[in-house]
Amino acid sequence: TIEFVRATQLQGDEEPTAPPASAQAQQKESIQAVRRSLPVFPFREELLAAIADHQVLIIEGETGSGKTTQIPQYLFEEGYTKKGMKIACTQPRRVAAMSVAARVAREMGVKLGNEVGYSIRFEDCTSERTVLRYMTDGMLLREFLSEPDLASYSVVMVDEAHERTLHTDILFGLIKDVARFRPELKVLVASATLDTARFSTFFDDAPIFRIPGRRFPVDIFYTKAPEADYLEACVVSVLQIHVTQPPGDILVFLTGQEEIEAACEMLQDRCRRLGSKIRELLVLPIYANLPSDMQARIFQPTPPGARKVVVATNIAETSLTIEGIIYVLDPGFCKQKSYNPRTGMESLTVTPCSKASANQRAGRAGRVAAGKCFRLYTAWAYQHELEETTVPEIQRTSLGNVVLLLKSLGIHDLMHFDFLDPPPYETLLLALEQLYALGALNHLGELTTSGRKMAELPVDPMLSKMILASEKYSCSEEILTVAAMLSVNNSIFYRPKDKVVHADNARVNFFLPGGDHLVLLNVYTQWAESGYSSQWCYENFVQFRSMRRARDVREQLEGLLERVEVGLSSCQGDYIRVRKAITAGYFYHTARLTRSGYRTVKQQQTVFIHPNSSLFEQQPRWLLYHELVLTTKEFMRQVLEIESSWLLEVAPHYYKAKELEDPHAKKMPKKVGKTREELG
Ligand code: ADP
Ligand code: MG
Repeated sequence: TIEFVRATQLQGDEEPTAPPASAQAQQKESIQAVRRSLPVFPFREELLAAIADHQVLIIEGETGSGKTTQIPQYLFEEGYTKKGMKIACTQPRRVAAMSVAARVAREMGVKLGNEVGYSIRFEDCTSERTVLRYMTDGMLLREFLSEPDLASYSVVMVDEAHERTLHTDILFGLIKDVARFRPELKVLVASATLDTARFSTFFDDAPIFRIPGRRFPVDIFYTKAPEADYLEACVVSVLQIHVTQPPGDILVFLTGQEEIEAACEMLQDRCRRLGSKIRELLVLPIYANLPSDMQARIFQPTPPGARKVVVATNIAETSLTIEGIIYVLDPGFCKQKSYNPRTGMESLTVTPCSKASANQRAGRAGRVAAGKCFRLYTAWAYQHELEETTVPEIQRTSLGNVVLLLKSLGIHDLMHFDFLDPPPYETLLLALEQLYALGALNHLGELTTSGRKMAELPVDPMLSKMILASEKYSCSEEILTVAAMLSVNNSIFYRPKDKVVHADNARVNFFLPGGDHLVLLNVYTQWAESGYSSQWCYENFVQFRSMRRARDVREQLEGLLERVEVGLSSCQGDYIRVRKAITAGYFYHTARLTRSGYRTVKQQQTVFIHPNSSLFEQQPRWLLYHELVLTTKEFMRQVLEIESSWLLEVAPHYYKAKELEDPHAKKMPKKVGKTREELG
């Protein structure tokens, strides 16, 4: 068992109560009754009046008060979509955009994709009739390319603004500008109870509309001592809560899909072993890549007598409201991107979450009744080790994409763009440099023809460049496949615990000389030859869902080829051409084998081939990687063997022959690094 001590209480506005008799009772009420019961409902008229009176309104309210699902509907009912005008509501997360749109369509009694729809990258569920558009913030950003003044929108609601994603932050600057010359455009900035004063200041002191919360008190418990293995500690604590605490569902915050799957498996395993000694425990995962039918399960009411435990990523922090949660278990970590502008390295690491984030999580327990939050860290750690707030993404990510987009929108002076929080100067500079190296900008920093085309494709600049280069190497068919497969990255193969050997063999059977990009191409090609069969996927330990998504992405990219003047052509098995086209996009991501292992070519950083790579055993002298992931080490994921002479061919302006010479060529050790077995 794990010992928790009660330390503090998150104050609520309501008296503590016992949990509601059953979730069923609530469900029986009609959807309209639920709508009327939400905290925002009594403020409907007042809110609409404030929107009518002010161009920009900041809306603050607890998670679950009805901001996302109700406000766009109120606007619709009020006539803001007359004359075919549209309402946009942005979400930082794809899952949220989809799930919220589905919910609103149900509330309005319309088919999803008709009046209400969603639009996320590579997936558009809208039609001519769609007037309520839930979309990711990135998609609204791309709308500016085709409609710089957002003329077809009457209202733009930037939701979950407190998340401060890169795209949301850029939207702020652009929307503020559009609002100046479109006085009839309404701008709503909705946020959990965080940061609203800053948003108000940014939008020239726009008024803040507060929706009073309905929040019950939450008792906060900390562990007595730090926990070494938080995954194990989570599993133990969930069972402990299940066995000792009164009814009420549990919400656990973990950092990503792999961790969540592991935790769910461990929980199910132990429940099975305990058998009828404990009451039924429903274990439900939720993360961005989970298929939507599985996601829907977390919203279903818990059967009487059972308890539900939802194991979630940050997505459940504010984006999704799950009813019936009484207990929150918070290990205090999240997966965070960070960026080093000196080396140009992006990494995704598990880091302690912020205090603000920990309190949002705790708040999830107090939605329907008084709740409890168990933190798997000490009160001292909370006080002394957690940052106050999360650093906005714009300050810890690469900016290539966004800079290219802003340049295409004719915004040249990026240093003076209206940022809520400016990115580090070096990051901006490096983005400009990289875009110059890719040929997207000229030496004056102006967009080139090729840069304009790159911006047309909804993918990273390097990936766009690779697609454009496939024209020269006459292999666009293959490159489209590689691009599509890379975008469903890391979820192609699956490896069930009881069939590890079979799964690994199946994966190795796809290996082709040259590297992982060609392996991906091979998988897709064989799948296509099988007639896109799900049986084929099953037999080869390939995830059918990921493949179907790759096929969708591929189709969409293919549809855009004409716009960027790339013709369809195949390399007819001459994979050197495919590898050169990839190099033309990724010459920035290269590494060479030195006596002390792999070093990146320009920055001389030590890096390692990921043990899952087809090149792990081979250790070629020169390679390029798709991405770097920092876990226990700086691992290169998806690597491709290249020849150094190709770098001069594809990027003569970037590489000099001299730096590609190999002084140790003759004295190369046969093998550097550990074998797969040694790494475990
Ligand atoms: P906010 O944006 O203020 O956090 P939402 O509008 O997302 O609030 O949610 C309001 C309420 O709508 C939730 O408390 C929940 O009761 C209900 N709700 C939202 N999405 C769903 C869903 N997918 N299934 C069932 N109920 C939902
Ligand atoms: Mg919301």
